[in-house]
Amino acid sequence: MKKYQAYTLRNYLDIPQARVHLSEEERFALEVVGHVLPFKTNNYVVEELIDWSRYRDDPIFILTFPRKEMLSPEHFDEMAAAIRGGAGKPEIRLIANKIRMELNPHPAGQLSRNVPAIDGVKLTGVQHKYRETVLFFPSQGQTCHAYCTFCFRWPQFVGMNELKFAMRDTELVIKYLKSQPLATDILFTGGDPLIMKTKVLRTYIESLIDARIPNLRSIRFGTKALSYWPQRFTSDEDADGLLRLFEKVRKAGMHLALMAHFNHPNELKTEEVRKAVSRIRNTGAIIRTQSPIMRHINDKAEIWAQMWQKQVEVGCVPYYMFVARDTGAQHYFALPLEEAWNIFRKAYQQVSGIARTVRGPSMSAGPGKVQVLGVSEIAGEKVFALQFIQGRNPDWVRRPFFARYDPEAIWLNDLYPAFGKEKFFFETEFPVQRKAMLNLRQAGGLNYKAAMN
Ligand code: SF4
Repeated sequence: MKKYQAYTLRNYLDIPQARVHLSEEERFALEVVGHVLPFKTNNYVVEELIDWSRYRDDPIFILTFPRKEMLSPEHFDEMAAAIRGGAGKPEIRLIANKIRMELNPHPAGQLSRNVPAIDGVKLTGVQHKYRETVLFFPSQGQTCHAYCTFCFRWPQFVGMNELKFAMRDTELVIKYLKSQPLATDILFTGGDPLIMKTKVLRTYIESLIDARIPNLRSIRFGTKALSYWPQRFTSDEDADGLLRLFEKVRKAGMHLALMAHFNHPNELKTEEVRKAVSRIRNTGAIIRTQSPIMRHINDKAEIWAQMWQKQVEVGCVPYYMFVARDTGAQHYFALPLEEAWNIFRKAYQQVSGIARTVRGPSMSAGPGKVQVLGVSEIAGEKVFALQFIQGRNPDWVRRPFFARYDPEAIWLNDLYPAFGKEKFFFETEFPVQRKAMLNLRQAGGLNYKAAMN
């Protein structure tokens, strides 16, 4: 039975493979970037998922080990100079926080826009953006078994306290859910909520079950534990208890869904993950899978086709391909929307109907989840066809709209309406903050927080 061992900046040289393989330059880069973006991996990832014979190109190495290119040259040089010059902890922290604030720490306006209130109390551990689904950030679930280098939730892991969502108190959440009769789902998210011990999780789940909220039909967990620590469902001391808890949700007549995060088919290659999937499925829970599309990790149609195929074989349901978010190391991971769409459709063409449950490529942007349907030509104009899969206003969903074709566009705020229109149809309610404004922000001419409000 493997015992969990985390590796961070503090102890990563205890990893024999890192000592043997990483050059001086790579170690220094890891230290520099790891002072800005969070770095954590673990013994399962290192021993069973990474192929160290080709680690520089290994997708799981890139997924968990920061590297130089993940910061802009200016940011890298600034932090490198501080470390080389022997700067003390407070100074390093100051520089790190300054850089972090320039990396759009809360994309899609999450911090200010989606936090609801009840009885005049702000529910700082809750986000409610889409009518049916309430996101819940339990305070003990704000970390993960390892950190993804592309993670858009990175501010939660680096001590930017004012940006943390976390809340212990389930009573208010229950009250809030009861006040929202159209909310059918609660999604436990983090970090990774399944990092919580079963006994902690049980308190939350049992309170929800006992509250008998008539509108609550599904409990969901957003998790990467299947990929980073499948032992959570197999051999951890409270693994069996967790599965009993899943069963309890099912027995209470609710749907239990794991929104499992897999970025590459290699994460599905071990016996341990297959065993974990099978044990979860035996409880009656359904595992749906999702991932962003990212340069250097999964930017080929074959990788996606293989991943969806493997997922279906073990009994998971392919669910989402996301576009890399406009935060953190986006410049390193992002692909143009057109390329993402081409990869999606080529992968989709290679799998049978049962894997075509997947949707994408989808941008989780301020107004909603915007899917790139494709590139087309209408009345002589080359355009992107788009639609909302989810919208801040439910009425926006599945209404096709069109943007001017731009081969370099990587996010919604790069797009402009087609056919000479000034605004997309939803912009009367929710204007898109376009790149021109963001550039101004990056040049320091616009207060970031004010801009997001
Ligand atoms: S597992 Fe999810 S929350 Fe955790 S670092 Fe990866 S993407 Fe972020």
